[in-house]
Amino acid sequence: MTLDEARARDAADPLRHHRDGFALPAGTIYLDGNSLGALPRAAVAVMHDAVTRQWGERLIRSWNEADWIGAPQRIGDKIARVVGAKDGEVIVADSTSINIFKLLTALTAQRPEATHILSESGNFPTDVHIAAGAARAAGIDLRLVTRADIAGAIADDTAALLLTHVHYKSGARYDMAALTTAARATSVPVIWDLSHSAGAVPLDLAAAGAEYAVGCGYKYLNGGPGAPAFVYVARERQAALRPALQGWMGDARPFAFEDAYEPAPGMGRMLIGTAPVLSLLALECGVDAMLAADRDALWAKSQELFDMLTGLMAERCPDFTLVTPTDAERRGSHASFAHADAWPINRALIDAQVIGDFRAPDVLRLGLTPLYTSFEDVWRAVDVLADIMANETWRKPEYAVRSAVT
Ligand SMILES: *Cc1c(COP(=O)(O)O)cnc(C)c1O
Repeated sequence: MTLDEARARDAADPLRHHRDGFALPAGTIYLDGNSLGALPRAAVAVMHDAVTRQWGERLIRSWNEADWIGAPQRIGDKIARVVGAKDGEVIVADSTSINIFKLLTALTAQRPEATHILSESGNFPTDVHIAAGAARAAGIDLRLVTRADIAGAIADDTAALLLTHVHYKSGARYDMAALTTAARATSVPVIWDLSHSAGAVPLDLAAAGAEYAVGCGYKYLNGGPGAPAFVYVARERQAALRPALQGWMGDARPFAFEDAYEPAPGMGRMLIGTAPVLSLLALECGVDAMLAADRDALWAKSQELFDMLTGLMAERCPDFTLVTPTDAERRGSHASFAHADAWPINRALIDAQVIGDFRAPDVLRLGLTPLYTSFEDVWRAVDVLADIMANETWRKPEYAVRSAVT
């Protein structure tokens, strides 16, 4: 594969014009949209209007006039189309961490005889930490088992199973339908964390029989730094859900200002306090950009980018070990490579304008976001990496220093 061949792939790519919708800095090869999505151009104008007109001029009237109050539901319904859910099954609120807590505390309360929450050892840290806190609050244990042992560990006394659909580090993907069915046989509710799946791989929560899920707004959905997250509950499970964090925005009549709390019908009850409106409006631009592209074309391109990246890496950077499953049905939209010196190598890459990231202890993670990643990006990234390895540029002492965010 030559640079010209990569460019020819871009010229034939049916999604190529979607890249123009993102304000990517010239000269930068961005392979970290799985950690912080790029800036949708539309968000610049939307933010300007939201700040100067809606907030500055219209002030508090905008809650009604601009429907700020309806934004969590409105954007939730848009995300529902990305994840294969129905209108009224997804709402945008809080962070992924808090949404996990809201679901876990509500579900453990429904199963008073249960003795533990179940999850995977090596799951994303916040999932494990929040699950440990929710277990402590419920007076039960958190049981962590390896990926291979999850299905066998589901038991009658499991309060809930918390799984990340696509693993943040390895990129390995669970068979959602199979595990959901296995858990249902024992009536154990499963919460799927879709942080590395929503907007990355085809999702059909309804077809998989999924009942509960959460996901991240600032990764593949391009919602901006710290964008609010989303939570999904299948319609038939919503009425029974009583959140422990019952705030006024989740009440059936917030502006009646009453002492008594009554959960709002449907997903409204998953709201707690006042929504971060500016962040919601930025997220909406990212979700709109995703909905404008054909889902099957996105996934087809993700696979082509992955095959090209892993092929070029095997050929030109043989010191790296691919840790992501090659079977497309068993992975997400990023490729992870193990190398003992992954940290300084990633630092050298960033200095050379190729932005991926590092996940401790030894993983170089390269995200493939088919909305705006080009085949030329992938070709150039491997070319730069091969150069860094050949010239040992990564050995510069300054690259050994760890930054706060990796
Ligand atoms: C990114 C990510 C999160 C992020 O949680 P925040 O509350 O937004 O910090 C949670 N879980 C997984 C699996 C993630 O990949």
